[in-house]
Formats: sequence, structure tokens, C-alpha cells
Amino acid sequence: MTRFYFTDYWDEDIILDKDIEKYSIAAWQPKKFNFPTLEIFQPILDGKPIQHVPPREYIFLYAQVLKKNYGDIAQWFFHQKKDVALLCWCNKSRQKKFPNVMCHTILAGWTLEDINHSLFNEFIYRSGRNADWFGSVHRESEFGWETIENILEGRY
Ligand SMILES: [Zn+2]
Repeated sequence: MTRFYFTDYWDEDIILDKDIEKYSIAAWQPKKFNFPTLEIFQPILDGKPIQHVPPREYIFLYAQVLKKNYGDIAQWFFHQKKDVALLCWCNKSRQKKFPNVMCHTILAGWTLEDINHSLFNEFIYRSGRNADWFGSVHRESEFGWETIENILEGRY
């Protein structure tokens, strides 16, 4: 069983657990942190960080990043043997306006689930993240679970 956690840099239960490998997947990380970065998940499209756009547009742009990197993401995914945490800035105290934390790590998680949703992997969305929902996008649409394709084709 390999566990994949999606959380923030300040989630100490995860950060202090030596058995979990930790990676930053934000465009940049807070000053005092220096986690290895996984570029394949960074919200950077054509060299520019995706920022200052409404949630729907953000999701659409980030889905393009995931599609571009899909092969590399799948390859990374199948090589993981230890538990892994993918980290970003987002948490409830940084997003007081929203009932659920909106963070690209959710979409990254959905993508991994699409690649291999099996009993040997567990996907754990922490720190205010809701596994079923991101902005106006729900995990399971009437078109099924192929998240990236559905988003890029406007089916959400
Ligand atoms: Zn985030």
C-alpha cells in the first residue's frame, strides 16, 4: 500500500513523519522551506505561473499542464514505493473566503487516481481539501472519471 497525501507545508503530522517523502509542487515555496520540487506537477504553463485567474480558468489551465506532463507523471507515479506527500501553500487559514480549500494539488491527486485507482494506493486529501470537489468541478461527473479530458473538453 502506497499512500499519496495532498496537503500544505505546515501540516506537521505529515511533515514530521520520516516515513513519508515530501515534495513541493507549488510554483515556489515559502522562504524557510526547501523541499525537493516536482516540476511535473507545478502550476506553470509555458514558463509562466498560473495565477490571478478565477477558479474555472485556473482549472482549465492547470489541466493543460497535467495533460502535457501526463506521461512523465504516470512514470513518476508507478515508481513510488514509499508514502508520498505533495505540498502546496493552500490551507484554510490562507483561504478564509472559501468553504473548501481550492488547490491544484486536488487536481493533481485526481489525475493520479485516474492513472491507477487500485486497492494498492490510497489518496488522502488533507488540510481543508475536499476529495470530491474543486471550485465548480466535481470529481465524478456524468462523463466519468477521466478528469483532465473532461475539463479540457469543457465537460464539467
Ligand atoms: Zn495550493
